[in-house]
Amino acid sequence: MNYSKKFIVEPGSSIRLKDLEPSFSKKNVKKISSIKEIKKLQEKMDEFQFRLFTEKKHALLIVLQAPDAGGKDGVVRHVIGSMNPQGCRVVSFKKPTQKELAHDFLWRIKRQVPKPGEVVIFNRSHYEDVLVVRVHDLVPKEVWSTRYEQINDFEQRLIAKDTHILKFFLHISKEEQLRRFKQRLNDPTRQWKISEEDYAEREYWASYEEAYEDALSKCSTDKAPWFVIPSDKKWFRNLAISKIIVEAMEKFGIEFPEPSVNIEDIRRKYHTAVHEGKKGERSSTNK
Ligand code: AMP
Ligand code: MG
Repeated sequence: MNYSKKFIVEPGSSIRLKDLEPSFSKKNVKKISSIKEIKKLQEKMDEFQFRLFTEKKHALLIVLQAPDAGGKDGVVRHVIGSMNPQGCRVVSFKKPTQKELAHDFLWRIKRQVPKPGEVVIFNRSHYEDVLVVRVHDLVPKEVWSTRYEQINDFEQRLIAKDTHILKFFLHISKEEQLRRFKQRLNDPTRQWKISEEDYAEREYWASYEEAYEDALSKCSTDKAPWFVIPSDKKWFRNLAISKIIVEAMEKFGIEFPEPSVNIEDIRRKYHTAVHEGKKGERSSTNK
């Protein structure tokens, strides 16, 4: 199965979340074998990220959006946690501060985009400005409705500067969300994650669905596609996202940089038979 093709929001199409399964099931995709596969994919991601980091030309921006308890933190940990922290950064966007609100909605976003060689994960993003902001009328419709185009322009400008963009919507069912909230209540290590606001937001489920459908349909483009990931099962979510990231990275075609020194010269100077022989002698006398 080609995961990218299966879960992409085709540019120019209009999606309906009700038509998409939050709980994907396919006979030949099993939890046990997937966990092994995820491990292999993590190694590949790590290798690609290393190439990106050494090449210092391309960058990768991964955008995560989901309802509360949708699994954004889990994706950060299990999927992206495999990469070398030296070249990775996670940015979580919360309710904007007064200072941030005094600027255009993209201001705080632009400051956090990846530099060449970097992988950056947005845990929530500029899309909140057409989601929570739209659902709760935080700005008038005349304002939020112009933002889809502004978002597309902004993303195209990043792409023009060799930043690859992958956007994932973690699709969970309303029932699964309630189950996860209950789990949080019962788990002292995760109680800090829950608030009454989370339950209150459930009242707006349908409005969020509508807002998501618009954002995903209007802002899925060839170079910055949206993927709707069935996320009721955490292992499948991790598998699908890892696959899509690896499939995309394979297409980047990133090579290791050319050496800036003359490799042959160095080899001749320090690795002739004489040098290597001496080294060999030393190690044999040590025995
Ligand atoms: P959490 O991710 O659970 O820590 O919560 C962050 C909160 O910040 C969520 O309720 C988001 O909806 C909210 N948030 C993020 N970005 C914005 C924004 N641009 N405007 C208003 N609320 C936002
Ligand atoms: Mg929350």
